[in-house]
Amino acid sequence: MLKKINLKELTKDEIHAFMSSSGLSRFRADQLIHWIYTKYVSDINEITEFSKGLRNSLRNRSYISGLKLEQHLKSTDGTQKFLFSLEDGHTIETVLIPDDDRLTLCVSSQVGCAFSCAFCQTGKSGLSRNLKAYEIVDQILTVQKGIQPQDTISNVVFMGMGEPLANVHEVIEALWRIVSFIGISKRRITLSTVGIAPVIGLLASHAPEINLAISLNATTDAIRQKIMPVNRRYPLKTVLDACRTFPLRPRRRITFEYILIEGINDSADDARRLVKLLKHFPCKINLIPLNPIAGSIMHPPSEIIIQRFQNILVQKQMTAMVRKSKGQDINASCGQLRGHPVS
Ligand code: SF4
Repeated sequence: MLKKINLKELTKDEIHAFMSSSGLSRFRADQLIHWIYTKYVSDINEITEFSKGLRNSLRNRSYISGLKLEQHLKSTDGTQKFLFSLEDGHTIETVLIPDDDRLTLCVSSQVGCAFSCAFCQTGKSGLSRNLKAYEIVDQILTVQKGIQPQDTISNVVFMGMGEPLANVHEVIEALWRIVSFIGISKRRITLSTVGIAPVIGLLASHAPEINLAISLNATTDAIRQKIMPVNRRYPLKTVLDACRTFPLRPRRRITFEYILIEGINDSADDARRLVKLLKHFPCKINLIPLNPIAGSIMHPPSEIIIQRFQNILVQKQMTAMVRKSKGQDINASCGQLRGHPVS
């Protein structure tokens, strides 16, 4: 028996070719895309615009995959965390973050992560595998299906499990589907990376014009290497040079994320060096007090130290915000995702 095709695995051209091979028009193919990506159907039988005969013939050759919800946790601050299992049994986490005027979904791009950043739980278990484009997009479809019709995901951030630029081809395909199939504006999508310098150019030339965030976290190579081993391969200067080549439209800025860790990167000298490094960049700086992870001896700085750090940046006309931690009580904050149930 022929293996059935997972329709979510197909690109736009592949869907057109698949439908055309059954003698169906582009119009029918576009209807199929519409039902999968904006009506969130998980079974061909739900496509009521297709006749019963057409549905049966499609079901003989294909199916629509879905993520299986294994766990759903709600924080006291409204953040929600979803643990999904994939078709091969691997698990990933996705976080929904409500804010005043936006509803942001933080998606994973890999099962685990190979980068071992010291402040991150995900890196502790290593990399199991890359996610396929459809598995990335499915996080949006599945969560959106669950929260409709009251709420609509307005923003997507690639800040969940994994390093998106280590899986850049699937991520780029996912980005196109998010923009053109689901209809989320590219301006409302942000990809955060540790700074895989050679791939930043590829993202710029092949992906929709999304927002770029760099997980910087230090102002010297010595400190950055201590908390981010990737810095040995791509030191600060290399990362910042790559950022300079990232095309930005007028009024668009790169975001630099800076996780503040007590006694490691939170001194006044660090803040002054940060100003020096970034002063010629059209950028904003997100200061993120470290979120606790199990077994770590690192801590966030005190409020006073955080304030002092921010003040030094602001006094030098940098745009710097302290990002409030969300979902800490369900281990859904930055650096806390790990892809298996929290006991
Ligand atoms: S911060 Fe990102 S790149 Fe670093 S270990 Fe965690 S998931 Fe990987």
